[in-house]
Amino acid sequence: MSVKFYNTLSRELEEFKSIEPGKVGMYTCGPTVYNYAHIGNFRAYVFEDLLRRVLKYAGYDVTQIMNLTDVDDKTIRDSQAAGKSLNDFTAIYKEAFFDDLNILRVEPAEEYPAATDNIPEMIELIQILIDKGYGYIGDDGSVYYSIEKFECYGCLGRINLEGQRSGVRISTDEYEKDQAADFALWKKWEEADGDVWWESPWGKGRPGWHIECSAMSMKYLGNHFDMHTGGVDNMFPHHDDEIAQSEAATGEKYVNYWLHCEHLMVNNGKMSKSKGNFFTLRQLIEKGYTGREVRWLLLNTHYRQKLNFLHAPGEQLEFPGLEEARTALKRLDVFTSRINDLANGSKATDWGGLDVVLDKAAARFKAALIEDLNISGAQAALFDLVREINRAIDEQGLSQKDADIVLSLLRKFDNVLSVLDVDDQQEDEVPVDIQLLADKRQQARKDKNWSEADRLRDELKQAGWQIVDTPDGAKVVPL
Ligand SMILES: [Zn+2]
Repeated sequence: MSVKFYNTLSRELEEFKSIEPGKVGMYTCGPTVYNYAHIGNFRAYVFEDLLRRVLKYAGYDVTQIMNLTDVDDKTIRDSQAAGKSLNDFTAIYKEAFFDDLNILRVEPAEEYPAATDNIPEMIELIQILIDKGYGYIGDDGSVYYSIEKFECYGCLGRINLEGQRSGVRISTDEYEKDQAADFALWKKWEEADGDVWWESPWGKGRPGWHIECSAMSMKYLGNHFDMHTGGVDNMFPHHDDEIAQSEAATGEKYVNYWLHCEHLMVNNGKMSKSKGNFFTLRQLIEKGYTGREVRWLLLNTHYRQKLNFLHAPGEQLEFPGLEEARTALKRLDVFTSRINDLANGSKATDWGGLDVVLDKAAARFKAALIEDLNISGAQAALFDLVREINRAIDEQGLSQKDADIVLSLLRKFDNVLSVLDVDDQQEDEVPVDIQLLADKRQQARKDKNWSEADRLRDELKQAGWQIVDTPDGAKVVPL
């Protein structure tokens, strides 16, 4: 069975072939750390998490690099407004981002390079572009990329550049399709940049956003790698600019497969702060939802379709989509707990029909996911399995051995979905902040930082929780 993805480059479903057999290099545009990421951003990160888990399920060894944009127009602007140094300011949102990923059960990428740690690599790349005639110094002293020099400029976003803006320059990091123009590789220092600058052959300044991703992706994955992902709004100009920079500099093809995740809409409109329908993960957690429920909702819609997040302020069910997620997960929890009970003791005899049912479910689950991450197909396979096993239990019972076999298939499914909680059925749902404290304490113990571990234990105790060791590992339970 071959793995297939819709490649934005060709606008076609293509069979996936990795450059090195059995290995995938994947670059993911990470967050700009100037604020808490909103659930639209997290939709893309959850999609990328599903993608890496499916690739692993299909037997690939995945190396995923996600950058952190900690210097750009927005981080500089907002750090100044907050009266903080750029580093102190972005550190807050870097940490918040990782906490949020953890809450959403997103598997960590292999590396999270920060732009400010890779400035020499960017300067080197810009110098190559100047030497090859693609980069030039504008009359404002900044370095620009000449888009007319690169033959396939705009090919990813399918931008028609005919008769357009030749020699016009744009210095902002973000701009629209109709503003396509020579873009900044290196921005000369201005008063407004304050103390944010680095030395370069072109004087004091800072990198443009687009060169950050070209430099960091090629540093970690090589000039030519398998896969690059992001949200659809990254497609143009950001990803076209990356292609233009990288391919002009190396003379090699940059990326084989481009995958883009569609927008999250709120009540069919754009999420906007001014309309009051802008949501961070934290806000939903405060409303009493769990990371697992938000994850399920974000996963539910195929990544190439717009996801419509429903918000009904003032209604009894303010977030109908999250309520549906809660109901679906409860149904699965009832099932896994039923199977767990049987695995802990059942007098029923082995069921001859089990293998066929499980093999069929496993095959359907995998076939759906390796066909461009067909999540509804995978969920249908899971829910049909639940129905068939429930029926078998009602009709003839399930032996202890058979229940164990069912659990092991559920665990395999959950390696991909990460919503099932096959092994940690808990009476009381642990609040996310408590779970975070507990995770920190486990880490402190691993690090042999006993005083910190004790302090966190006391903090948990005050909040009414404790950690107990069980045969399945440590669990958080109410005092
Ligand atoms: Zn990027």
